[in-house]
Amino acid sequence: MTETQVPTRPLHLRVVWLPDDTVRDLYVDGDRMTFDPVDGAETVATAGFALPGLVDAHCHIGIRRGAAPIESLDEARSLAYTDRDTGVLAIRDAGSPYPYPELVGEDGLPRLIRAGQHIAASKRYLRGIGLECEPDEAAGALARQAKFGDGWVKLVGDWIDRSRGDLAPSFEPEVLTAAIEAAHTEGAKVAVHTFSEEAVACVVEAGADSVEHGTGLAPDLLDRMAAQGTALVPTMVNIDTFDDIAATAESKFPTYADHMRRLKAGFPDVVRAAWEAGVQVYLGTDAGGGIDHGLAAEEMHLLHERAGIPVDGLLAAASWKGRDWLGLPADLGDLVVYDRDPRVDLSALREPAAIILRGRVLA
Ligand SMILES: [Zn+2]
Repeated sequence: MTETQVPTRPLHLRVVWLPDDTVRDLYVDGDRMTFDPVDGAETVATAGFALPGLVDAHCHIGIRRGAAPIESLDEARSLAYTDRDTGVLAIRDAGSPYPYPELVGEDGLPRLIRAGQHIAASKRYLRGIGLECEPDEAAGALARQAKFGDGWVKLVGDWIDRSRGDLAPSFEPEVLTAAIEAAHTEGAKVAVHTFSEEAVACVVEAGADSVEHGTGLAPDLLDRMAAQGTALVPTMVNIDTFDDIAATAESKFPTYADHMRRLKAGFPDVVRAAWEAGVQVYLGTDAGGGIDHGLAAEEMHLLHERAGIPVDGLLAAASWKGRDWLGLPADLGDLVVYDRDPRVDLSALREPAAIILRGRVLA
């Protein structure tokens, strides 16, 4: 799909508006959606089921397949279009080595909420992707990234420690805590990558705003997360690759490989328990690097089928509640229409019938 370049004209749709579970006449006038009739609106849908687009709350349009930085704005656009054409109209970019502030607000692109560049420990992350620092630099580095994003920063909370042969926190607990506090002081929310039990316990304690992946979450952390509003973005599509990661690492790092396999095996139950404890759980694919873009519907399938998240709550979290979480107004001119009811069959999400973004119908 490519965006039409014709001037915006008011649009009218009569559809089941899923946030209300009601048949509604919706009007899109410029970049705003309203239930009040707009003169001269052109009717573009008279049936179907609509929501304000899916949110991929963890992907990377600044990282190309193979985990190298992109090299142009066009590359970022192209990755974002891939997501958009599957109905993702908002993206929280969870760390980019290539800055692209010019693209925020661009016609035809999903709403972009960027988290600056990953802050990681020296030699403890994908090479060339994060800003690597020593423990005494971490808090300052994370706080500085607050200036380069849209209200979020990204901290790599753990990674394989080759000297230990297993996952280990990137920094000592007091360093992780100080970094999160420093970013908060700059007004940024903090998303933290964690796989291990050790790191996630520390960052939940420190009041991180979202746990990314979170495979190591213990049940006794979940009530605290729910109470303090620390969200979980499970990225189940990514966790599915743990067996491959383990197989590659097996010969040199058998303990790590075994750990990754155990984390993967226990993960659907972790996600389910988080949901049941009232933790906000959002859709994230972790596209970029090792995962293809455009897999939001697949992530929804895994969250429902494997983790057992109920469809109604899942759709809300993956769409209008996710947008609200990221600070997007509820009346923006973004809509995705499906012929089939995704509440009856989530596979409907694989086939958007119409996409309206920033008030324009995508052709
Ligand atoms: Zn990621």
